[in-house]
Amino acid sequence: MSLSDIQDRIAKAEAIAGRTAGSVKLIAVSKVQPDARVRAVLDEGHRCFGENRVQEAAGKWPDFRKNFDGIDLHLIGPLQTNKARQAMELAQAIHTLDRPKLAKTLARLAQEMGHCPDLFIQVNTGEEEQKAGVLPRDADEFIAECRGLDLPVKGLMCIPPVDEAPSLHFALLAKIAARNDLTGLSMGMSGDFEQAIALGATHVRVGSAIFGERVSQ
Ligand SMILES: *Cc1c(COP(=O)(O)O)cnc(C)c1O
Repeated sequence: MSLSDIQDRIAKAEAIAGRTAGSVKLIAVSKVQPDARVRAVLDEGHRCFGENRVQEAAGKWPDFRKNFDGIDLHLIGPLQTNKARQAMELAQAIHTLDRPKLAKTLARLAQEMGHCPDLFIQVNTGEEEQKAGVLPRDADEFIAECRGLDLPVKGLMCIPPVDEAPSLHFALLAKIAARNDLTGLSMGMSGDFEQAIALGATHVRVGSAIFGERVSQ
């Protein structure tokens, strides 16, 4: 697999789903990948990347930014409130807004800093204990709470349980987004991004299918 293979598959999936060409954003998930692989994808002209740890992102993206213009960095991993400021300085989007305390912190920092990354609310569609995200039944209330804080909520994000059909989770996320007038849907990874696109994904998060297997995590 390579970047262009994935781009082709996304284009096909868009066409099959009757979606506008180019309407799905590919987030190349570069976490724990060697810099040489990331640089190769940058050299091919791709600019949208995903990282799941603030620390790791802070360690490599400021340097890449010195050499490449227009980098669009998305944080897709759990965010501690004490890392929120650094996350907001680094990233153009945060996909893991998942609790009131974090919402309040982001709102306070947004006031202070005068800007805020695009936000996606993570929904724990599989209601898994070990997974972050608001429960589906609490989603409407939390979305309203975030909007009440003037946060720029662009959409919803989910990570389906590994042992279940992802489509059910993508459909549920799309339904919650639709009833809350949210257009962004961050869903779909290496193994299931075409299904996610069929169900309305606007952002797919693809790592290993582009970069190869991660060495460790
Ligand atoms: C690592 C990760 C991905 C990418 O996973 P792949 O299976 O390598 O495509 C997507 N989303 C999140 C939240 C991740 O942590």
